[in-house]
Order: sequence, then C-alpha cells, then structure tokens
Amino acid sequence: MSEQLKDLVRTHTCGAIREADVGKPVVLLGWVHRVRDLGALIFFDVRDRYGVTQVVARDDSDLLATAKRLRPEFVVAVIGPVEMRSAETVNPKLATGTVEIAAGEIRVLNEAVRPPFQIAEETSVSEDLRLRYRYLDLRGPRMQRNIQLRHRVTNVIRRFFDTHDFLEIETPILTKSTPEGARDYLVPSRVHAGQFFALPQSPQIFKQLLMIAGMDRYFQIVRCFRDEDLRADRQPEFTQVDVEVSFASQDQIFELIERLMHELFAAVGLGSIEIPFRRLDYSEALARYGSDKPDLRCDLAVEDISKAFVDSNFKVFRQVVETGGAIRALPISGGGTASRRELDDLVARAGELGAAGLVWARYGPDGKVQSSVLKVAGEAAVRSALELAGAGKEDLILIAAGDGLVASKLLGQLRLEIAQKRGWLDPNRFVFTWVVNFPLLEWDEASRRYTAMHHPFTSPIDTDLERLSSEPGAVRAKAYDLVLNGSEIGGGSIRIHDQAVQRRMFELLNIGPEEAKSRFGFFLDALEHGTPPHGGIALGLDRIIALLAGETSIRDVIAFPKTATAVDLMAGAPADVDSKQLRELKLRSNG
Ligand code: ASP
Repeated sequence: MSEQLKDLVRTHTCGAIREADVGKPVVLLGWVHRVRDLGALIFFDVRDRYGVTQVVARDDSDLLATAKRLRPEFVVAVIGPVEMRSAETVNPKLATGTVEIAAGEIRVLNEAVRPPFQIAEETSVSEDLRLRYRYLDLRGPRMQRNIQLRHRVTNVIRRFFDTHDFLEIETPILTKSTPEGARDYLVPSRVHAGQFFALPQSPQIFKQLLMIAGMDRYFQIVRCFRDEDLRADRQPEFTQVDVEVSFASQDQIFELIERLMHELFAAVGLGSIEIPFRRLDYSEALARYGSDKPDLRCDLAVEDISKAFVDSNFKVFRQVVETGGAIRALPISGGGTASRRELDDLVARAGELGAAGLVWARYGPDGKVQSSVLKVAGEAAVRSALELAGAGKEDLILIAAGDGLVASKLLGQLRLEIAQKRGWLDPNRFVFTWVVNFPLLEWDEASRRYTAMHHPFTSPIDTDLERLSSEPGAVRAKAYDLVLNGSEIGGGSIRIHDQAVQRRMFELLNIGPEEAKSRFGFFLDALEHGTPPHGGIALGLDRIIALLAGETSIRDVIAFPKTATAVDLMAGAPADVDSKQLRELKLRSNG
C-alpha cells in the first residue's frame, strides 16, 4: 500500500547531508537502493539524482516492520535526525559516508516490482535490456552523470553563442528534402493526400535563408534525421550544434569554434585545450594518416619512400613506381625489437585488411639492415628506405606498395591498431585538427556522375574556379571538418552566394534546371535577393558529449536512443499503425 506525501517537504537531497548536519531532523525523498536486514537493525540506502544516504531503522517495532517491507526501487520518504555512523560503517567513497539518518518515520510512497537489473555503477546486463528499461538504466550513476554533463554542455554552448551575438532560431521539422546525401524520413500529409513532408537531415537551407534574411549570426541546437544504412554508432535522429555566420571567412569560423571548444572543455573540468587547432590539408591527411579523420594523439605518420626503389633491382617495387604507384612506409618508434612472431602477425593482419603484402625493415643490433625483402631489394635500397622514412636505430618500418592511397590507408589502419596496443592513444588527451581543402566533388561510379562531397551549396576555392569545367574532380572546396582524437565532430563550409556559381554547381551534379527548380527553387530565388557571403558549420553534439564523457557509444549520452538497428526497444517503434490512420492518409501498407 502506498502512503501519501501529504505536506512532507524534502529538506535535503540524498547527496547533501554532511557531518555538520548531525542532530538536525531531515526529510529525504528517494528510491531504496539497497537493504541490509540484520534483524533488530535494518540499514538501507536512499538514492536520488544527487547521491545516496544511509538510513538505519532500529528499536521501534512498527518502524522495523515497515523497513522489512522495503525492496530496491521502492519510493520512500524518510524522516529523522542525522547521526554519525559508527566507525565500522563509515564509507569514505561516499560524500555522505560518515553520516546516516536514524529513521523516525518511513513512508512507502510507492512500491516497485522487482527490477530486471540492479541499479549500479557497473552493469553487465545486455544493452538491449538496458534500452528496454531505459528509465531504470537512466537511474544509474553513469547515465545520471552523462545526462547531467549533456545539460551542462548545452548550457555552455547556449551561453557562448549568446555572448557572441548569435540568435537561436528554430527551423521547421516538417519540411522539404535537404541535400545532405542520406535518405529522408518522410511524413505523409493527410490534408494533401499523396504528398509528403521530409524531416530535415540538417537545417542547411534554412540557415542560409536566415543569412539572406539578415539574421547575421545564427545557431541552433537541433535534431536532425537521416535514414542511413545501419552503422554501428549512428542514430536516425541526432543532435547538431548548427551555426551560420554572415560575412565570415573560414578563419573567423575556425576561431569562433576554437574558442567555443576551449570554453567548453574548461567548463566541464577537462582543462585548457590548446588553440588554435592544427590545420591539415585533406590530401595530406589521406597520404600521411590514410584517413580524413586522423587521430593525432599519436605522432606516427606515413612517409613516401618511392625514391628508394626507383633505381633498385627490386623489380616489383620499381614497377609500382614506374606505373604511377607509390611505396609508402610507416615508421614505428621503438618497433625495432619486435620479435619474428610479432612481425609475422603484422603481415598476417595486413592480409586480413586486404593487402597483397606487407614488407618490413629495420637496423639489426650490428648496424646492418634487416628486411623481409633484403635479398631481392638489396642492402642499399633497404638502407635508403629506412633513411627516407626517418627511421632511427630502434625503429621498425612497415612498407606497403601499390596505389598510393590504398597503401596509406593500409598503413593508417595499422598505425591506429599499433598505437592502440602500445597505449599511445591517451584517453585523457584531446587533440583537435581542422581538415581543410576537401575536394568539391566525388565521382560516383554506380551512377557515373559527380556528387557533392559536402553538399551542393559549398563554395569552390576561388583559385580552382577556372578548373570547374576542365577538371571538376580536381577542384577543391572551402569545406572543412573538425576532428577530435580520430572522430569527426563537425563539418561545414563557406557557401556559394553567387547564383551563377550555384547554377553551375547543379549542372556539374547533373541536376537539371527543372529538377533544381522543383527541389530548391525557393532557395535559388532567394539567392537573387541580396545574399551576403556566408558560411557555417555543424557540430555533432552527441559525439562531442560522448568524447567528453569518455564513452565510446553516443547511445550512452542520449536519454532515449535507438539501437544500432534503428529501433526504440522501449516504446516499440517503429510499429504498425491503425488501418484507419492509413486510410486517412490514403496509404496502403504492404508490410
Ligand atoms: N549542413 C551540414 C551538415 O549537416 C553542415 C554545414 O555545412 O554547416 O553536415
């Protein structure tokens, strides 16, 4: 039976009571965390968002009878004075660990069924079970911390943009398809049967319209929707910090975001991060790290050592270079002592990653060179390879040959795996980098046409404009990504504000005037009405919070996420709908 709260008012939270409160009568309201029944003495912990406080029931038989009924997750009110705990029961790990409440009255405000898992710091239950009972999972300390962190982060972001004169402006959720390259979630219109709204993949067009509208500086913490093929750590709906600035250069946008990150990290107690961030050319990122989101907590980088083999007797490598390929090497500091077994494992791993082969080289203890291709390549070429790779006496180099990009990607992947294994990716270090000068276009072999690498409103680099017709694939964009510890946490661009360039871009993307008009006509019209030069960025809020929280999955920083297969296990969504609803929408389900 539940009792009433009546006029009972909480005096303290379950995390607040300290030794200075000894003797005071208090009222605590919370959930029963754990019960230890010692017969004539019953201890239980009461928990709320703020912490845990120990309660002891003794002496009074009614009180003991009530305490005996208590089970985990019952909601209770505890009334009584604060006392010091006896020395044996002091818990130095708890902020409230030296005190307890001597219960004078216990009211069971609500009972609870047996929970499917215990609310605890660590839980070994499956993520599916956690997600099915998310409200219980959220009661646990880890999720409480993460959700509180999320609140703090969004607050800092709002305050930051407010102090920099930005306006937070909401943009529509029921809208028209936005060109971010994923599939849209569609919402059928009942009033206009047969027609559909699309949920925004991003507010891209609207934020540009806001610049045309003279809003000057816009931001929004906004939900975006992308119906992507299943990927481990993607959510169909996710949150972006969306930003757009009129009259801004790329450098101004970088500086703004650097300051935001600096403030954010300081505000959540992660210290002072180094700004400005390093800037890395997209082509250099690919060549040296095999990735457009390199993890720069580790200094290892791929070197081009093709020159070592151009005049060598090693026919295979020589031919690779002669036919436009490259020989690339990854030097591993201190790797020279690797055992034969470790070297064999690396070669095997390269095979698993799809490589035709992996060659290694190093200096032996006698100063002579050693290599898996010493015989065929000869001492001089191997020595020259080690020198070109900048290898020291203690180092090992791994060599891949073939298409330069493919070789760099293989070595880049090995770089990450080796760095991970050797503990070179310190989880407490935060290394940011801007990746700049992305290509404007990407060739899509399936449809045999170019697609926008970022989105079709991204401006080409001025000096590359003249190559738009002759060499579209080589044109670079004023597009940038922000990368933190190997994760892309944001991306943006300076936009096209000139209608003629915008039209030209649609042509390149094979979007004919009719299609452009029907998809983005309103936007093309707007461009004619005095569009200021502008640019912006969107930051992935979920990913940033996950990195700040030390979580690997963004699901752990979202209150009600979907599974990796885009299902809400708690609400049971997506789900069938009533046939009446379908009839009203003039839809038929074939499911
Ligand atoms: N709309 C882009 C995105 O969602 C970001 C931007 O260009 O500002 O990735």
